[in-house]
Amino acid sequence: MLEEKVETSQSVAEKPGTLLLLGPRGFCAGVVRAIDIVRLALEKLGRPVYVRKEIVHNRYVVDELAEQGAIFIEELDEAPEGSVVIFSAHGVSPAVRQLARERKLRVIDATCPLVTKVHLELIRYVRENYSVVLIGHRDHDEVIGTLGEAPGRVQLITSVEDVENLQVPDPERLVYLTQTTLSVDDTAEIVAKLKERFPAISAPPAEDICYATQNRQTAVKTVASQIDLLLVVGARNSSNSNRLVEVAKHAGARAYLVNNFHEIQPQWLSGCRRIGITAGASTPEVLVEEVVAHLKKRGYTHIEDANIIQEDVRFALPTELRA
Ligand code: SF4
Repeated sequence: MLEEKVETSQSVAEKPGTLLLLGPRGFCAGVVRAIDIVRLALEKLGRPVYVRKEIVHNRYVVDELAEQGAIFIEELDEAPEGSVVIFSAHGVSPAVRQLARERKLRVIDATCPLVTKVHLELIRYVRENYSVVLIGHRDHDEVIGTLGEAPGRVQLITSVEDVENLQVPDPERLVYLTQTTLSVDDTAEIVAKLKERFPAISAPPAEDICYATQNRQTAVKTVASQIDLLLVVGARNSSNSNRLVEVAKHAGARAYLVNNFHEIQPQWLSGCRRIGITAGASTPEVLVEEVVAHLKKRGYTHIEDANIIQEDVRFALPTELRA
C-alpha cells in the first residue's frame, strides 16, 4: 500500500471536520447473493469455477474472489466444456444460455432476481405483441442481457431527446421498461416525455428501478443540502455509483466518484467542513472504511451516521447451493 502523506485541510486545521456516513450505502441484496454464490460454489463444487464477466462491478470484489480461486472470463468459450460457470448479477441473454447448453456447461445463475423480473416482464409484453421501449445505458451488461430477450423487438432509449425520434408501430400497444440502476429523477423525466408523446403507453407492473438504487439516491438527496462535498465510493463501470454522483449534483452538492481513498484529491477538501460519504451497491464496506480512515488523518474526526432508510432485503440462494 502507498504510504500516505498527511496534509490537514486548511478548513479543518483548527476545528474538527465532520464525516456524514449515509445509509443505506454499499452492498445490496443482489450483490450479496452473487458474491455468496461464487464463494459457495468454490467451497461446495471445488475448483475450477468460472465466472462470466465481473460478478458485480467492482474490481476489489473481483480480485478477492480470484484470489479464492474463481476464474473470470469474458465469454463462455474460455471455459472448458462441462465446467462450472457462474453468470454475473447483471444477467445474460438467451443466446448466452443456449451457448452454455451447447458447451454442456454446468451453469449457476447469479443474476439478481430484480433483473430477472425485468426480463420476464419484457418476454410477457413481447408475447402479447407490445412494442417495448427500454430506458437504459447501451453498453451496460444488464441492458445487453435484457435486449437479448427479444432482439429487434425492443428500442433502447437513454434520454428525453431520444423520445422525440421514437417510431412505434402501434402507440396503443406500447410499454416502457427500465434498467434497474437508473436515476429515479432522470427516468421520471423520460417517462413524462413518453407519456406526452404516447398517452396510451403502459408502465411496468412494478417499478423496475430497484429498491437499492432508489434508497441510496433518496439518502443522497436527503443530505445534499447539509454537506460541502459528497464522496461516492464505487467503480467507474458501476451504473448505480455513477447515478449517485449525478443525483448529488442535481441536488446542488459537489460530488466525486472514487474507486478508493487513493483517488481523493487534496484540493477537493479545501473549504469543506462536512463531507458526506456513500457507496454504490457493488462497493464493499472495507473501501468506505479506508476512505474514512484517510479523511480522519486530515482532520475529519467527527463521525455522524445518517441512516435515512433501513433495508432488510435478502434473496434466496440457488437450490443447488442451499444444502
Ligand atoms: S442494484 Fe438492484 S438490481 Fe442490481 S443487484 Fe442490487 S438489488 Fe439487484
